Amino acid sequence: MTKKDIGNSLKLLTDSIPADIKVVAVSKTKSKEDILEAYYTGHLDFGENKVQELLEKHPELPKDIRWHFIGHLQRNKVKHIVDFVYLIQSVDSIRLLKEINKRSENAGRITNCLFQISIADEETKFGFEPDELYKWHEEGELQGMNHIRICGLMGMATNTEDNVKVLGEFKFLKDYFNKLKRNFYSSDDHFKELSMGMTSDYDIAIEAGSNMIRVGSRIFGFRS
Ligand SMILES: *Cc1c(COP(=O)(O)O)cnc(C)c1O
Repeated sequence: MTKKDIGNSLKLLTDSIPADIKVVAVSKTKSKEDILEAYYTGHLDFGENKVQELLEKHPELPKDIRWHFIGHLQRNKVKHIVDFVYLIQSVDSIRLLKEINKRSENAGRITNCLFQISIADEETKFGFEPDELYKWHEEGELQGMNHIRICGLMGMATNTEDNVKVLGEFKFLKDYFNKLKRNFYSSDDHFKELSMGMTSDYDIAIEAGSNMIRVGSRIFGFRS
């Protein structure tokens, strides 16, 4: 894609969806110049899935960019990103959450987090089993972690042409979100984000109730 196309694609995308749906521009593998093209249109939310890549890009890009971490995060790397990350969308274990809490405390910060929930068929996708996470809540396992802020859930549907299946998985996550909200976060205004949908399925995700989509190739072109 040419530079001009990046700004245009982003604008086409944001114009084609309801205004209250947040777009995270997934910039993994893309250059700083490409990111700036999107940034100059006024876009601030960018997603990266590798700590090393994020650490290379972050110091050289504008400080008001809100970096979303969307990949599998190893516990020993948490300390490198808690100082500046805006939202960790891929919290997939209690051990990871505890590490984020501890490192955030050391850094004097409160880190925004989403729980990644496993909703797809694929074994390769990380995330909590819904029942497991529900149980952690019932058992009060999350209490006393004062340096994390749970802002909602993230999930990825099965990579398939079967739209009915994808819609079913997203609807499942929306229902699960409502159930957690009702039972454990009813008086917590922060628990409100439901991050689902990427280039191939964001329209289905929105239909199912997503309010945050993570889109890469549709904005920046295909990754090699
Ligand atoms: C790469 C990635 C995306 C964006 O994928 P596209 O198909 O390029 O839109 C969204 N979410 C996660 C977790 C990703 O790793």
